[in-house]
Amino acid sequence: MAGRSLAFLSGVSTDLVKGIGPRTVKKLNGAGIASVADLLLHVPRRYLDRSQLFDLSAVPLNEEVTVGGTVLSVRKRRISKNRTMIDAQITDGTNVITGIWFNPYLKIAEGAEVALSGRAERFRGRLQMKSPDMDRLDAEDSLITGRVVPIHPSAGGLTSSRMRVSISNALQRSRPVTEVLPAAMCSRNDLMSRDQALASIHFPETKDETEPARRRLVFDELFRLEISLALRKQHQIDKATGVSHDPSGEMVGAFVDALPYELTGAQARSIDEIQGDMASPHPMHRLLQGEVGSGKTVVAVAGLLTAAQGGYQGAVMAPTEVLAEQHYLGIRELLVEAGLAAPETDPAGGAGTGSLFAEGDEPTAGLKMALLTSNNAEVNFLPAGTANRSDVISGIASGEIDLVVGTHALIQEGVTFSKLGMAVVDEQHRFGVYQRVQLRDKVEDYDPDLLIMTATPIPRTLAMTLYGDLDVSVLDEMPPGRTPVRTIHKPKQAAALNEVYDLVRSETAAGRQVFVVCPLVEDSDKLEAASATAEYERLRNVFPDLRLGLIHGQLRPVDKDGVMHRFRAGDIDVLVATTVIEVGIDIPNATVMIIEDADRFGLSQLHQLRGRVGRGVHASTCVLVADPTTTDGEERLAAMVETTDGFRLAEEDLRIRGQGTVFGAKQAGAKDLKLADILRDAAILITAREEAFALVAGDPTLDDHPLIRDEVRAMLGDDVDWLFRS
Ligand code: ADP
Ligand code: MG
Repeated sequence: MAGRSLAFLSGVSTDLVKGIGPRTVKKLNGAGIASVADLLLHVPRRYLDRSQLFDLSAVPLNEEVTVGGTVLSVRKRRISKNRTMIDAQITDGTNVITGIWFNPYLKIAEGAEVALSGRAERFRGRLQMKSPDMDRLDAEDSLITGRVVPIHPSAGGLTSSRMRVSISNALQRSRPVTEVLPAAMCSRNDLMSRDQALASIHFPETKDETEPARRRLVFDELFRLEISLALRKQHQIDKATGVSHDPSGEMVGAFVDALPYELTGAQARSIDEIQGDMASPHPMHRLLQGEVGSGKTVVAVAGLLTAAQGGYQGAVMAPTEVLAEQHYLGIRELLVEAGLAAPETDPAGGAGTGSLFAEGDEPTAGLKMALLTSNNAEVNFLPAGTANRSDVISGIASGEIDLVVGTHALIQEGVTFSKLGMAVVDEQHRFGVYQRVQLRDKVEDYDPDLLIMTATPIPRTLAMTLYGDLDVSVLDEMPPGRTPVRTIHKPKQAAALNEVYDLVRSETAAGRQVFVVCPLVEDSDKLEAASATAEYERLRNVFPDLRLGLIHGQLRPVDKDGVMHRFRAGDIDVLVATTVIEVGIDIPNATVMIIEDADRFGLSQLHQLRGRVGRGVHASTCVLVADPTTTDGEERLAAMVETTDGFRLAEEDLRIRGQGTVFGAKQAGAKDLKLADILRDAAILITAREEAFALVAGDPTLDDHPLIRDEVRAMLGDDVDWLFRS
């Protein structure tokens, strides 16, 4: 089954089969290339300029270079139980370089013409390259005639030279490719035609052609994204009906007065902005962006109360069960302090008890809160563990529950609200860009106000693309009295580890608590859980006197909750964990965060993990235990040690690894951008945004630009008719 094509080129056939063999088609489909357009937008990852290959006799050491030659011999050896080494001798006629790979699947044959790209070094007098990129430049490939050889990313097991042939065929069949942009827009922004751009990016005569070609294709991509955001924004302003909340009620004031601290200036300003939006008849669509620990929860609660004091319901959606429960408990505590909700019901059935669901009960004082996840339900007016999911769901539908906190269970079938006034989506980047709209659809006649919170520092340019239809409030001021987390890097040696263990002993002796995060195992929850369990057993021997806990993704939700509950209550000194604790967890008494094999994590993930400490009055330490094996890994550790500024780290992350790590594999948005690099292409993004918003302002239904409309529609997938209605 072919996947959904992610490329949109008007007039280009979607049929991949013509001209390409069925086996190849199958392989391409498997690699996500489902149409000719996908193939045409599978652009070279780089170009080899044959005149610029280095002579082996003069190749500079320790910098990125490309060399070429013929493979003389290949050896494959098992060097340890699970490591295989391949080395190949490659000659340019006079000298020899050895390429070394630890990838047992590498295909390299004697006699092949290849190019190696990487850093050359001398080892025992010989020239070698470790794990270089290898490209085949086989002489029989008729497409390699000119000086510039496009190197296409291999896909579905097709080498870059096979890709080259498929793309060349596709291009011949598709040209001339239809233009979709108005001529005036192209000329004012100095954009070449789409047809020319596709030809030049794949098979340039000279390398100079590739940059303007890329610029045009990147523009197309960003322009489409910005058009969709412009349409959304317009819909929200012109067409959607919201609720006019009254910010002058009593609950918000009571809540703020009861806080044990003063609001920061940024919090007060954000609450004003949110209340301003909520008072207006248009639905709010706002992003609250703030560093870990900047105090977003209080701001969100002020918004929820603004709705609640007028009799509307509030909802908070969190990305994980653990986080949903924490929000439920945290918000409940804040409301209890302010006298706005009843304290936890005494399990023995004391004051405050009362089944809301039975007829004729005494109304319970204060706001009624519920927790709803796919496994768990809880309410603040019944003893813990006695509410069930269907009661909670009917309480939400009838309007008896004022405030519900949950996971994506909240947007699942069967949950409807009687009077949802305000929805908060926490850590939005974990949900899809388009998923956020779904919570809003839970009400029939109007759009509730929506506040999206993100703790991931997103560089401005990225925020503009992902959240271009949102208004933004930024918490750019930390609550006072925090000491920045001290970050240190320790190698994995006994002496260094003993220092780390001493720190654990002294902090726990002082009553503090410790997180130990186990190595990341990509794509395998199971292996990750197993390694965390092993580490837990090992550390139990290291710290026989301390109380250790273990949490990972394979635990049942109730068990996870149990562990978090004990940690929060101080009954666990050292919590051994996987990245399930990555976001949102708020344990102000925890002062040490140890991250094992820290070089394997992305920067934004490291920053999130570090944000789990330094949340209270005690000075905190983050220990990165690692022997980095790559330059990227070293750079990430150095950046972490150097700064605690999340925005700087996010920019650094983009620089080191590209936007993939910021988006993360599961995050929507990434899939919409195949060519654009948000950081490098910031200037194009700004232009594309201006053009897109201007176009939509002049042609709100895109009736005058049907080709653009069709491409945007194709990008958005199903169910977007409402966007195009006038
Ligand atoms: P975020 O969700 O932005 O990471 P939280 O809302 O969890 O941050 O707040 C982090 C911690 O800071 C919490 O323990 C909270 O009680 C505390 N806090 C929030 N606002 C203030 C403030 N204005 N002054 C002091 N402490 C605050
Ligand atoms: Mg939070």
